[in-house]
Amino acid sequence: MNYRHAYHAGNFADVVKHAVLVRIVEYLKHKDKAFRVIDTHAGIGLYDLTSQEAQKTGEWRDGIGRLVDANVDNETANLLNPLLAAVHAVNQDGSIQHYPGSPCLVRHLLRKQDRLTAIELHPQDAACLKQTFSGDFQTRVIELDGWLALGGHLPPKEKRGLVLIDPPYEKEDEFERIVARLRKAHARWPGGIYAIWYPIKKHETIKAFRDNLAGSGIADTIDIRLELRAPSTEPQLDGTGMIVVNPPFVLHEEMNVLLPVLARILGDSEEGRWGIERLTAE
Ligand code: SAM
Repeated sequence: MNYRHAYHAGNFADVVKHAVLVRIVEYLKHKDKAFRVIDTHAGIGLYDLTSQEAQKTGEWRDGIGRLVDANVDNETANLLNPLLAAVHAVNQDGSIQHYPGSPCLVRHLLRKQDRLTAIELHPQDAACLKQTFSGDFQTRVIELDGWLALGGHLPPKEKRGLVLIDPPYEKEDEFERIVARLRKAHARWPGGIYAIWYPIKKHETIKAFRDNLAGSGIADTIDIRLELRAPSTEPQLDGTGMIVVNPPFVLHEEMNVLLPVLARILGDSEEGRWGIERLTAE
């Protein structure tokens, strides 16, 4: 486990991933009934953008750094508001020094009745996360292999909610593993919403991943993508994607509003592209 999210927190991929995450959680809040979010690869929760790691790459400047300074229309602003409010809640004076990772972001959005299970395997990161949520009865932090959580923790007792799967893609076979684990998880809890983040680097790998999902037998799956530029000749992070299983019915429409704006703000010199595709039928 060499991956450290502190180098990448708040970058364009985080911003798009978290924009989708926020829209799903906001949808779950339409009903009073409690829900649970299970974050299988949670990270440390809160990132210091002045840290050596964040400063070394400076990636956040072209992600959340651009978004907070951008002018957007009212409809987009309404959809982005919960994300930006969570970012401002962890910063004091309007400046951006911290960025909330997925567990902090989700926690900011929860109502009294809702719950969060945050799972992290790296011992230091898990300890940090436990510290952040110490005494918070709505959040359970577990030091565990997130893939195991897809077995034992599903379905949650609330029987409503979201599983966020955001692995570091350090292993060659991560894409195949995701489809296999997702099939098992979905068999245990077919009614849950699943959001799976993926990096767009090697375009042929992504095609195989999408084909694999399309043939997985899992119904009602969409693919949300934002690419900063046309495919590079050498593999580099050209874009960011999110597979959503059982997407809220409003998500497609909301992403149709958000993605062109995010592509304009985050894309390289107006080369940003986006797309939403249905991989399997409802
Ligand atoms: N979800 C976080 C967010 O949006 O703020 C970022 C997560 S980061 C991309 C991936 C995290 O997964 C890292 O913190 C890494 O330590 C952790 N990790 C790696 N392998 C894991 C595993 N098998 N189970 C749980 N966590 C794992």
